[in-house]
Amino acid sequence: MQFIDLKAQYERIESEVRARIEAVLQHGQFIMGPEVGELEERLADFVGVRHCVGMSSGTDALLAAMMALEIGRGDEVITTPFTFIATGEMIALLGARPVFVDIDPVTYNMDPAKLEDAITGRARAIMPVSLYGQCADMDAINAVAERHHLPVIEDAAQSFGASYKGRRSCGLSKIGCTSFFPAKPLGAYGDAGACFTDDDALAKALREIRNHGQDRRYHHPRIGLNARLDTMQAAVLLAKLDIFGDEVDARSRLGRRYTELLTARGAGSTELGGDAVLTPFVHPDNVSVFAQYTLQVPDRDSVAEKLSASGVPSAVHYPVPLNDQPVFHVGLPGEETPVGARVAQRVISLPMHPYLTEETQLKVVDAVAAATGLAGS
Ligand SMILES: *Cc1c(COP(=O)(O)O)cnc(C)c1O
Repeated sequence: MQFIDLKAQYERIESEVRARIEAVLQHGQFIMGPEVGELEERLADFVGVRHCVGMSSGTDALLAAMMALEIGRGDEVITTPFTFIATGEMIALLGARPVFVDIDPVTYNMDPAKLEDAITGRARAIMPVSLYGQCADMDAINAVAERHHLPVIEDAAQSFGASYKGRRSCGLSKIGCTSFFPAKPLGAYGDAGACFTDDDALAKALREIRNHGQDRRYHHPRIGLNARLDTMQAAVLLAKLDIFGDEVDARSRLGRRYTELLTARGAGSTELGGDAVLTPFVHPDNVSVFAQYTLQVPDRDSVAEKLSASGVPSAVHYPVPLNDQPVFHVGLPGEETPVGARVAQRVISLPMHPYLTEETQLKVVDAVAAATGLAGS
């Protein structure tokens, strides 16, 4: 059993992928070839914003977004501790300080009620993460941001394709950043990412920053990066985009089916709290793409071992909150962000991809039941 089955997807799109790659081999424009612009247009349409700027990775998208907003030394960027390292890492790389706001215990995303208290005079941006494929409460976060005249950058690395109140992730704030790492909901065959914005000036800045700060050939008004989206990856993504709508529907259907199967065995919903096994809670405002299907369980490490022994792969996203990472140790994380600290010890992600069969899901659910003592084990 695969944790993410990329092979099943490849079998479906093999001829389109090969044709797209062959076209690149033929025209030979490996850097900023025509596929990059074509993909950017289609992605901007998909999200419903004016501009998509392709980037070399999700990490570089976050970095470029903050560079475009001129964030640097002495600034603070407010984010969540319960995320992949890149979120906090890029803030720190620019010499800014990540300020960690605790998460909502139900959605695992930044708790907007705790946001205002974290804003000091040095705050320059707010960076919520749309974790596991479900958007953060962007309206509530944008409202606080507006009161303080701060831009919001959505780290949408896990939520491309998700929607919030009928609008797409990446189009919900000043800048949306996503990743096309192979295991993400829309994945390339290597590293890739993108920034999205409705702001013309920011889009221009992002285009310059990804290409060494140049506005025309060998003329550099600003410091930039080599963060261009690779033509070959753009070609792969164009082939995958044709079936992405389908895959988004499948993800949400399969996520619901996991929850139904687990609920029938006595697993709780996160609304109730305190249950032995908690299924994900998708807020009614959201359609999740289930980048991860993540449970809370007691004695997580032993559950992971038992799953593995019965042939079911699992993963932990993420075992250590950022403010407890050696590089960010900013005090007493358990006290600063107790929800993030507790959840980090309890989460476990199950195999999830659009090509999961009902039979596989049943096998996973049986194994979870056996590992946790749910009914039917
Ligand atoms: C994957 C991920 C990133 C980084 O994306 P890369 O394309 O791997 O650089 C950033 N933030 C979050 C929340 C992620 O899951």
